[in-house]
Amino acid sequence: MQTDFTPAQLADKDMASSEAVIRKCVHCGFCTATCPTYVLLGDELDSPRGRIYLIKDMLENERIPGEDVVKHIDRCLSCLSCMTTCPSGVNYMHLVDHARAYIEKNYRRPWPERALRAVVAAILPNPARFRAALALARLARPLAPFLAQVKPLRPAAAMLQLAPERLPPKPSADAPVSPPGSRGRVVLMQGCAEPVLRPETRAATMRLLERCGYQVSFAQGEECCGALTHHMGKEALALQSARRNVDAWTREIEKGLEAIVITASGCGTTVKDYGFMLRHDPAYAAKAAKVSALAKDVSEVLQAAGLPPVVSIPSLTVAYHPPCSIQHGQRITTAPQSLLREAGFTVRLPADSHLCCGSAGTYNIFQPEIAGQLGARKAETITALKPDVVATGNIGCAVQIGQHMATPVVHIVELLDWATGGPAPAALAPAKT
Ligand code: SF4
Ligand code: SF4
Repeated sequence: MQTDFTPAQLADKDMASSEAVIRKCVHCGFCTATCPTYVLLGDELDSPRGRIYLIKDMLENERIPGEDVVKHIDRCLSCLSCMTTCPSGVNYMHLVDHARAYIEKNYRRPWPERALRAVVAAILPNPARFRAALALARLARPLAPFLAQVKPLRPAAAMLQLAPERLPPKPSADAPVSPPGSRGRVVLMQGCAEPVLRPETRAATMRLLERCGYQVSFAQGEECCGALTHHMGKEALALQSARRNVDAWTREIEKGLEAIVITASGCGTTVKDYGFMLRHDPAYAAKAAKVSALAKDVSEVLQAAGLPPVVSIPSLTVAYHPPCSIQHGQRITTAPQSLLREAGFTVRLPADSHLCCGSAGTYNIFQPEIAGQLGARKAETITALKPDVVATGNIGCAVQIGQHMATPVVHIVELLDWATGGPAPAALAPAKT
């Protein structure tokens, strides 16, 4: 795509990066067919190509974004399906991240939106606040249908509806006592939403990694990866989290480390991008690049190590839902399925496995209508597989899919742990053991 940025504009490094991305787009439109919002809404401006035009116009002319432009960029899930489809290698992720930060700086949202976004940015990345907020949300849940009738309050209603009816017990904050392993030491990223909503994922991962021969540690000083604030355009907050994590993990790298293991693929995609996010910071660029290179999804680590010996468990049909952040963000396409098959499960993928379930970080809070349609559609294609259980690799997807169907939804590590000698996943225990 031809661009017309001035040399003064291109002196801004972020602008120069975005210009290089835009120039790669050849308008072919292949990406439109795999864009969930275009497939649902049929509007070119809700397709990747349409959004690239909007972003180009906004950045090139340094426009104050209008309500309409913000609407179409906000509707983007950041699912990155367009990046997998694009034959020209357009890095839409970096472009839309820049556009979101530009909008955050230059557009004043209506106050209910501003307030809700501030609340979400303050609560979700902090496990203690998130846990307290979920307890309150359970009490306020009866208000959800009333809030849903007032358009600006629909995200608040969506948030109440997403809160689980029961919270699992708080996981221990103590560092794990893990014996030295034959394969060396890894740090397990602790995460923010996952340990509050599904602490069983961490427990299963630790057992599995130890069985594979790894010593598992936590990094002191680690915090939320910054993905939630990054996708809201709150760049300063996202970079602050990234820097703190780089510091925390660099201390661990200096002690000797095989990998930073991540069980929530949405976080993994962001941590793997720290090298890019901090590329202009001379104090952090090299350290961030090192951290990104060591960041691995748990399925990558398990595949490289090989599964421990498999024990006998009931034969189950697993519907595997590949999170967008795994298949499009990290381009991991076979490891989770191969591991599940190797563990003895019958694995099936839904017909629309390349399409987003509608979770997308905070998308199911801020865009509840589109997220609801995508979630219902995903539940339909998964149900068609008649699975005993749904497995995925991202907490957001697990919550979103669980909202739309009664079949138990677990993380793949829970099944792999079970198949190699661990306990049955809590979600399956009453029915299957
Ligand atoms: S990231 Fe997903 S929703 Fe956004 S433009 Fe690309 S395919 Fe569409
Ligand atoms: S597939 Fe790639 S090159 Fe083609 S319109 Fe989409 S982003 Fe542009």
